[in-house]
Amino acid sequence: MPNTREQAAAPPHPQPPLSTLARLRHWRPRLMAVSLWLMALVTLCLGATAWIAIPLLGDIAHKSVQTRDVHIPTIVETQRNAIKLEDLGRYVSNVFWSRDARTERDNRLEAQVLVQGIQLDQDEELSRGTATILDGIQQLIRIRTEQRGLEDSIRSHAESLHDYWLQVSRELTAPLPELDKVLQQLPLQAIHLTALDPHIEDLLKEVHQTEITLASQNLDEVSRSALQRQLQALDTLLSREMLLDSHARDVFAEVLDTQRRLSNHLTTDAAFKAKQVAEDVRADAQLLQRYSLLLFAVLLVGTVIAFFTLHRLVLRPIQMALGGLRSVQHHHAAIRLPRVRFHELDTICRAVEEYGDLTNRLRTANTELRTLSQSDGLTGLANRRSFDAQLKAEFNRAHRHGHGLALVMIDVDHFKQLNDQQGHLTGDDCLRALAEVLLHYTQRTGELAARYGGEEFALILPQLTHQEVIALAEDIRGEIEQLASVRNEQGLTVHFTVSAGIVHSPRGRDIASVEQLISRADKALYQAKRNGRNRVEIYSIGMGSDSQTLGQV
Ligand code: GH3
Ligand code: MG
Ligand code: MG
Repeated sequence: MPNTREQAAAPPHPQPPLSTLARLRHWRPRLMAVSLWLMALVTLCLGATAWIAIPLLGDIAHKSVQTRDVHIPTIVETQRNAIKLEDLGRYVSNVFWSRDARTERDNRLEAQVLVQGIQLDQDEELSRGTATILDGIQQLIRIRTEQRGLEDSIRSHAESLHDYWLQVSRELTAPLPELDKVLQQLPLQAIHLTALDPHIEDLLKEVHQTEITLASQNLDEVSRSALQRQLQALDTLLSREMLLDSHARDVFAEVLDTQRRLSNHLTTDAAFKAKQVAEDVRADAQLLQRYSLLLFAVLLVGTVIAFFTLHRLVLRPIQMALGGLRSVQHHHAAIRLPRVRFHELDTICRAVEEYGDLTNRLRTANTELRTLSQSDGLTGLANRRSFDAQLKAEFNRAHRHGHGLALVMIDVDHFKQLNDQQGHLTGDDCLRALAEVLLHYTQRTGELAARYGGEEFALILPQLTHQEVIALAEDIRGEIEQLASVRNEQGLTVHFTVSAGIVHSPRGRDIASVEQLISRADKALYQAKRNGRNRVEIYSIGMGSDSQTLGQV
């Protein structure tokens, strides 16, 4: 035998350290704490999203305001300036093409007003460019003015040449067609100088040709040199006219070029600004869209995970606990629930298990108490209380359905004497042996053997005929008489007998009450005692306390 003191002194058996996985498996966090952490996490996520999204939205709003207040007015202004530049180009064209001093002056004035307006906008490049255009217009006007003076001279030269030619032509030996042509064209074209311009070059060629041909003419020297002088003067005037015209074209082209360049500058500038703003807003919106998609994805995944987690770790344990509670009510087996993750729910599950165990223990105790309260402690038969209840129920049933009901009262004969002679313990054994026999004869539904009190027993026997009841009582009496199972302290067989009194109601309605039924059975038993014991008496009409008429078996 091991020494208990040594056992107590021995150090406790060392527990092997738990692995991280095992520790995690046994970890039971509190639902409240996890909920708070989750709420904090969600708040943090939303805060981070707001922290990213709000500046972006602010930027978009700022750029929208900037677009409204700065860029759109600039674009509109640029557009207006582009129209003004178009007008300026038109004025330049008018000055170049009109060949009319008044039109030129009017267009110059218009252009001047327009340029002054443009210069107020403080766009340096535009101011410089429009000033150049205005300068070009003024140059064009100067050229056109000089051309007009030249054209007057050409016209007067052509007229005098024409007159002089008429004088000398008669002296010519051969015709001079080139001069004829010049003289025919000149007056006509000089009047409409606009029509002259494209032909100046041709005209000049004709004049040169005339000068050459004149040398071969048979003219006197004076006329020839006079003619030549006139032709040379015309030549000089036409050359100058051609030069001025070419200069005017150059100036015109230059001015138009400047105007086109400025137009391009404006258009490009406005388009660039508009594009830049649109690009900025698009970039911000795209970033916002990406963040929104990311947030949506995170929320979606989070919601799905949260739902499954909630279902697995919270709802399922609650349902399990509810199922456990339900089965406590309907089943008697012990409830065993699996471990769950959250501390609170695990506590509830364990409480349900304990509640189930407690309920089962109570139920068992109740059953035992009920059995005890309904049975007799010595014999195990039904006690007086349950006998009364069963007799009442069977009496009512027999009354309702009209079937037979019998009550047999059985009493041990001279039991006082038996107790005195054999002792109370042997007397108890006799009662137990009798109870066993009685139980054996009352096995059908509705039948009951009960200890009525002391050494007195009662049998409730529904749905038996008169003869069947008598036979049953007689069998019991006979069996007890023959019983040899009870031994006294010395080991000797103890014999004893019983008397029985029967009352039988064949149709269940012949007896008015339970009390009457018991009283009649008592009377029959009394009669059996009086008639010498160890016998069965059946109650018959007329058997009363006064009557001495007995039903005897
Ligand atoms: P009778 O034939 O007229 O019935 O005579 P009896 O002696 O049986 O009748 P009595 O009423 O005079 O005596 C009943 C006795 O039963 C008295 C009591 O001591 C005894 N008794 C009652 N209950 C018990 C019990 O539980 N155990 C034992 N051993 N004896 C009991
Ligand atoms: Mg007795
Ligand atoms: Mg008695």
